[in-house]
Amino acid sequence: MNRFEVVTPRDLPNAVKLLSGRNHAALAGGVDLLDLLKQNIVAPQSLVNLKGVGAMDAIETDESGGVRIGALVKLSEVAANPTLRERYGAVAEAAAQAATPQVRNLATVGGNLLQRPRCWYFRHPDVNCLKKGGDRCYAPGGLNRYHAILGGGPSFIVHPSNLAPALVAFAASVKLIGPGGERTLELERFFTLPRIDPTRENVLDTGEVLIEVMIPAPAPGAASAYLEAREKQSFDWPLVSVAAIVVSDDTHLIRDARVVMGAVAPIPWRSHEAETALRGARLDSSAAARAAEVALKPAAPLSDNGYKVPIAKALVRRAVLRAGGIETA
Ligand SMILES: Cc1cc2nc3c(=O)[nH]c(=O)nc-3n(C[C@H](O)[C@H](O)[C@H](O)COP(=O)(O)OP(=O)(O)OC[C@H]3O[C@@H](n4cnc5c(N)ncnc54)[C@H](O)[C@@H]3O)c2cc1C
Ligand code: SF4
Repeated sequence: MNRFEVVTPRDLPNAVKLLSGRNHAALAGGVDLLDLLKQNIVAPQSLVNLKGVGAMDAIETDESGGVRIGALVKLSEVAANPTLRERYGAVAEAAAQAATPQVRNLATVGGNLLQRPRCWYFRHPDVNCLKKGGDRCYAPGGLNRYHAILGGGPSFIVHPSNLAPALVAFAASVKLIGPGGERTLELERFFTLPRIDPTRENVLDTGEVLIEVMIPAPAPGAASAYLEAREKQSFDWPLVSVAAIVVSDDTHLIRDARVVMGAVAPIPWRSHEAETALRGARLDSSAAARAAEVALKPAAPLSDNGYKVPIAKALVRRAVLRAGGIETA
């Protein structure tokens, strides 16, 4: 780890100014950033402490009935917030299932969305793979049991964030501020595939700060579910996660649906195929199973991660049923 100083700007414009200079990194909870420093993946001369700017730490309902979550809100606060639990259940549940209580009390929403991938080649200080500017990806011919089964190539990372699939399912947007001013982007468009640029996971520009996440009001009749499978009960990232939203009536006729998988692709993977299969169908176990089949049809596993396919199918099926109010074994 290199030597660095921690700078606490007095407000957001000053934070942006500092971050626009060379070799600075934004510090939120520090859970991932400290690992990145120790693994020599980043070597900033200063860490710009966002917690000192005195903003971005609230969950508020806006005038259109949606919710704004400040980038510095902690995962434990998301998990416990009554509005999120009631109206955006998948988001609260995704936060509740992430990591450990200690990590959730430190980790922020912005940091969770911007954490770097867990690929062990990327995290190894002596490996210079494609993501670090090297000339090859070691996953296809190497150890790839935790890697992508969808959307991979030329890097095969999976996006590690629990919150990302749940927020994409709810059509969330992110507000960013940078040297050029503010911009708002759909979260779905914020994440970017390695085929565009294997060194990055999103389109955050140098000097930009993620200020908040905005989630629109859910459609009347919408209900959601978030499920994940892990190797361990806690202290671990998911092998597969699924966030589903089902908009249905009393007869279980599905008017709309969103299905987004996590930990299977370099970005939160929205299955338009599953959504199309569900729309207009009556929700029951065969409709959910059909959605799961089509969601995983494009899967292209590597040598050691084919096991993710049946897990993902089971989770899609169960998440869709649970969102529609039908419990499964
Ligand atoms: C044991 C363990 C288990 C875990 N399990 C899970 C899990 O199951 N699911 C899951 O989702 N996560 C898991 N995590 C990861 C954890 O949730 C993230 O590391 C954490 O959310 C990062 O948030 P942070 O506030 O600490 O970010 P930091 O570490 O401070 O920042 C992360 C990155 O984002 C940048 N950044 C942070 N905030 C902003 C901002 N507002 N604007 C611009 N840039 C910013 C930083 O510069 C840095 O590059 C786990 C971590 C550990 C240690
Ligand atoms: S999957 Fe991505 S991060 Fe991992 S070795 Fe390949 S290029 Fe590097």
